[in-house]
Amino acid sequence: MRILMVTSEATPFAKTGGLADVLGALPQALAKLGEEVAVVLPRYASMDGLTVPRRIWRDMPLTLGRYSFLAGIDEVRHGGVRYLFVDIPALYNRPGIYGDRTGSYADNHIRFGVLNQAALAIARNIFRPDVFHGHDWQAGLLGPYLHEMFKGDPTFFGAKFLLSIHNLGYQGNFAASVMPDIGLDPNLFHSEGLEFWGEVSFLKAGIVWADAITTVSPTYAREIQTPEFGFGLDGLLRPRVAKISGILNGVDYGEWNPETDPHLPARYSAQNLAGKRISKLALLQELGLPLDRERPLIGVISRFAGQKGFDLLPTIAAELMELDFALVVLGNGEAPIEEMFLSLADQNPQKVAVRIGYDNALAHCIEGAADMFLMPSRYEPCGLNQMYSLRYGTVPIVRATGGLEDSVDESTGFKFGPYTPEALLECVIEALAAFRDLPTWRERMRRGMAKDFSWDVAAAGYQKLYKSL
Ligand code: ADP
Repeated sequence: MRILMVTSEATPFAKTGGLADVLGALPQALAKLGEEVAVVLPRYASMDGLTVPRRIWRDMPLTLGRYSFLAGIDEVRHGGVRYLFVDIPALYNRPGIYGDRTGSYADNHIRFGVLNQAALAIARNIFRPDVFHGHDWQAGLLGPYLHEMFKGDPTFFGAKFLLSIHNLGYQGNFAASVMPDIGLDPNLFHSEGLEFWGEVSFLKAGIVWADAITTVSPTYAREIQTPEFGFGLDGLLRPRVAKISGILNGVDYGEWNPETDPHLPARYSAQNLAGKRISKLALLQELGLPLDRERPLIGVISRFAGQKGFDLLPTIAAELMELDFALVVLGNGEAPIEEMFLSLADQNPQKVAVRIGYDNALAHCIEGAADMFLMPSRYEPCGLNQMYSLRYGTVPIVRATGGLEDSVDESTGFKFGPYTPEALLECVIEALAAFRDLPTWRERMRRGMAKDFSWDVAAAGYQKLYKSL
């Protein structure tokens, strides 16, 4: 089969989160299974200097409402996959992917509307797919473009549209006034079409016109159909239950493997954990925490966003700080969460170390060093760090939601259900108590390390779905 993916991010070219990791790995895993895969994404400023793509198409004309553009199409072949970059400097050659310090770019509806038009032009001229596989709201307009604008176009005859939702919380909603700019019939602006509470919603467009919908874990596929997790779209999703499924993301074990990880001061395996103790001491030293190898070390690596559940901490901070453990936090994002962690470290310098920023090498060192990993998410479509943690023998403490529920069980980690500070506190206490029984703890570590969340499994799931379409 020929699969054309459309995305706003893919490692190693452009990344803000887990979406990029999926697009860096899934296409290659599908290629290994014998499928032909191309990935369409913008050529951002971040690409400069990274690779030298080959220009395969000059001046591809694209129209979007009253705007027209000439796009260059650049190609990088990577792991048997064709990555096709849409080069329109006026739209994409900027420091950010979605925005800058002052917020989202005001023309994101045009930037990602054009991306989808480019994907269709690529389908016509360069790579004709059996399935268009769009990711998140940035690819939502593929649905109405394919099934309304180009209805009857023989180029796309029989082509199907699969929408993968990586996070329902990001919907690409824009003022109704953008309607003339996205090139669709204004009659599609109604509650069964593009309209969502008076705005234009790209994600809703994707859902309405999708032939199939996936989320990045089976539990999240069920959760998004409930008011608690549905972000107002659950009513739209429920009648489509037959089209919705969940496929758990995989892990890139080439990058996340304690036996080969070049970022760790010492490597280790389930058979020989000595390197983990060395990694722990090295990190404690680097962060200026007491060199106490017996004291449990809890790690956090995260975007700081409401979704991640850190608002549970302030109410129980005093009780938590009475307990005997050290905490290392790496993350960035919303200022109130940064400040909360920084003041926790300020008040407890012997216990808590915080690094604000995005630092892949440090993220690896934390996975290698910590005894436990904390992810108290309010919701989590899949989550990757709990799966990295399992492989690194870093026992996850998670809220039982979405992909956390699907990848961690009682034999490999600790889970709490209710989204309350008390439930989180109780779960941490339970984990710390269990840590004292070292032989049993090591068995728990080894069970986690033996888990296999490789991309081959996930790719086979997508392959089956493409076939069914
Ligand atoms: P999300 O996509 O919601 O941010 P995931 O757990 O699915 O969450 O993916 C997060 C990815 O980004 C992981 O690869 C994680 O290691 C990485 N990451 C998040 N924050 C940081 C940070 N501050 N420094 C380094 N890596 C980070």
